[in-house]
Amino acid sequence: KIMDCQNSQFGSWVINGLGIMPLQIYNTFSGQKELFNPVHDGHASIYVCGPTVYGDSHLGHAKAYVSFDIILRYLRYCGFKTFYVQNITDVGHLLGDNNDGEDRMLKRALELGQEPMVVAESFTRRHFEVMDMLGVIRPDISPRATGHIPEQLEAIEILIKKGLAYESDGSVYFDIGKDPDYGKLSNRKIEEMKGGARVKIRLEKRHPGDFALWKKAEKDHLMRWRDPYSGWGYPGWHTECVVMSTRYLGKEFDIHGGGMDLKFPHHECEIAQAKGLEKPFARKWMHTNILTVEGQKMSKSSGNFVTLYDVFKKFNPLIVRYFIAASHYRSVVDFSENTLVDLSTSLQRLLQTVRELRKSKVEGMRSTGRYFEEFRELFCQAMDDDFSTPKAIAVLFDLSREANSLLTEKSPNPEAILDAENLFSTLGGDILGIIPEFLENEPVEMNLKDVMDILLELRTKFRKNKDFENADLIRERLEKIGIVFKDSPEGTTWEKNAKN
Ligand code: ZN
Repeated sequence: KIMDCQNSQFGSWVINGLGIMPLQIYNTFSGQKELFNPVHDGHASIYVCGPTVYGDSHLGHAKAYVSFDIILRYLRYCGFKTFYVQNITDVGHLLGDNNDGEDRMLKRALELGQEPMVVAESFTRRHFEVMDMLGVIRPDISPRATGHIPEQLEAIEILIKKGLAYESDGSVYFDIGKDPDYGKLSNRKIEEMKGGARVKIRLEKRHPGDFALWKKAEKDHLMRWRDPYSGWGYPGWHTECVVMSTRYLGKEFDIHGGGMDLKFPHHECEIAQAKGLEKPFARKWMHTNILTVEGQKMSKSSGNFVTLYDVFKKFNPLIVRYFIAASHYRSVVDFSENTLVDLSTSLQRLLQTVRELRKSKVEGMRSTGRYFEEFRELFCQAMDDDFSTPKAIAVLFDLSREANSLLTEKSPNPEAILDAENLFSTLGGDILGIIPEFLENEPVEMNLKDVMDILLELRTKFRKNKDFENADLIRERLEKIGIVFKDSPEGTTWEKNAKN
């Protein structure tokens, strides 16, 4: 098969009608867009930091994993053989800015009164369930931190032997003073790293910014492993990703990704260890920006933490995916219900065109690629420019205008219809994942919020006029189709019954 955007003869240089364009990726480490130059020709190896499975995945996870999903799909489309690893953190991600507080997993396990591994398993399954709903392709491997303890201890031993890490009161810390490059990824200076660690830990460390590779476990600690230091311990968060990425992808691989918030300390610490272990490590560092909720940073303390299960009660996951794809992965994206309602209207317009094209398609004919090819080129140009999905989507809307005018012709050219439909299915479907293979006939789902607003208003009016018969009729009829009202002193809200 001839590659559409990539020709192996030319490495990753992209050939199109407008000249030769390289696939450019913004590397956080250099602060520049760089040519994608894979370690092995025609292959792309990707490691993305996965979730810490102590709670349900939220909108922030959707932003990161949908973004990397589109990147993965585009690389595949360009002909790269991809190898995608995304870990599951089930131990060691400690609370506090310095990652030296309580273990998140353990804290949750105690709250729920369950075994930590039961908590990890159930939230891992729930994570994949919501990602499936978003159309996120599952990683090739999802290795777990608890499954790679021997490798982590082995790496720690090497770092101690090389004098880059030291043991102190049963715990092991990385000596950041030994790495002159520490802080390069996140543009921080070692002198500025004070760290707010607890007094006991501060006394154990040579420098307040030294990070834990291994922690001594107290007697009652539920998740602990045999170690040569105090007898029992558990890993710090930053070693798992160095060990698992290089174990599966090799000492040097193409892309290491994650959310912006992982740049420091997590990724900085990974880089320092990889260097100590003499691994060339990631060629490109990619970071997705944050997602805000109505202009505010999402956090548990401000109570605006939106889980995906909650969003999906009101919105089709497809709209959520479109909402994320509509902005660039390096831009901040702001979530509000109104934005999603507006976006669902615009996506609906696009889907309507595709629906019409599919209806007019002559069955049995094959796409020749003779028509509208310039749109494919423009789409690839946008994606080759550090995966500019907003520009790529704009190209689809331009194509939609052309397709609509074609459809209004008296006898539209069947080949052109086929080619347009094929472009939508490939670019919007296979790559962006916003055009499903099968479209339902009527876009009722998308406008549900608007309709519900009207019904809520009617019901409130009936109740005000003491017409309870009609007010109840609305409620009962909606319950039958799986929508329930929730009355509270603040007013009435509605939600879709999870079973429906
Ligand atoms: Zn990681």
